[in-house]
Amino acid sequence: MGKAMVAAAAALAMGASALTGWARAQDIPSGPELPEFDEPPSILAILAHPDDEITIAPALAIAARSGGEVALVFATSGDAGPGSSGLEPGEALAALREDEARCSASALGLEQPQFWRLGDGTLAPLARMPDSPARTLAARVAEAVERYEPDVVMTWGPEGGYGHSDHRMVSAVVTQVLAGMGDGRPDLLYSAIPADPAIAAPPGFEDWARTDPALITDRIGYERVDLEAAGEALGCYESQFPQEARAALIPMLHGMVWRGKVHFRLAFAHEF
Ligand SMILES: [Zn+2]
Repeated sequence: MGKAMVAAAAALAMGASALTGWARAQDIPSGPELPEFDEPPSILAILAHPDDEITIAPALAIAARSGGEVALVFATSGDAGPGSSGLEPGEALAALREDEARCSASALGLEQPQFWRLGDGTLAPLARMPDSPARTLAARVAEAVERYEPDVVMTWGPEGGYGHSDHRMVSAVVTQVLAGMGDGRPDLLYSAIPADPAIAAPPGFEDWARTDPALITDRIGYERVDLEAAGEALGCYESQFPQEARAALIPMLHGMVWRGKVHFRLAFAHEF
């Protein structure tokens, strides 16, 4: 996620659409039971940095636990984000963060993640140039969608959570590629924090963008075991979060943001 999360950590985020069988916003199951999947959806989650998946971790965990194929891809390996590690930016840091991401994926019950290694912080600058990392990212996204044929693609919203340029670019490029597809386009879900005036932003999330609840299309309910998996996944990221944050962040997100369901906004309508 990045520096904002690390700063926050010392004190202390975030049923799918018609085809997946997850409930729509107006039809939320109230019980703790598993969503009733006709067929578990396959999910391709495309994110910017190792640890970004924590913001949607319980949703990934329950999807995998329900038997759906869940592929996790990181556009960069976070080589510019030492977090709380004290390491210098560079390859050693990237290798460490990749190991942490493998640990996180295992905790969530996922297959090993893919690393596209496009360079932390490099996606936005010079994006229009012919050989830019952003153009490579677009090609990789297209290849991944063709390879995995997911029912659902999950990524950052256009705001990138708290505005990180890599997050924004991953969101924009994934959106661009899927918008260009014809038949067979997967559902594109943006992770979202619902705007609820009754709920204060958790400490450290004051700068995170909120989404009008009227635009939240998908709320993926999870169970305690999924929350525990999310906690275990976060615990893998020793380079990014001090110990007290690794202990406190997931309960805080559960209590103040997720509250039993991870929220998403469907990017493209199914029908007109
Ligand atoms: Zn990030």
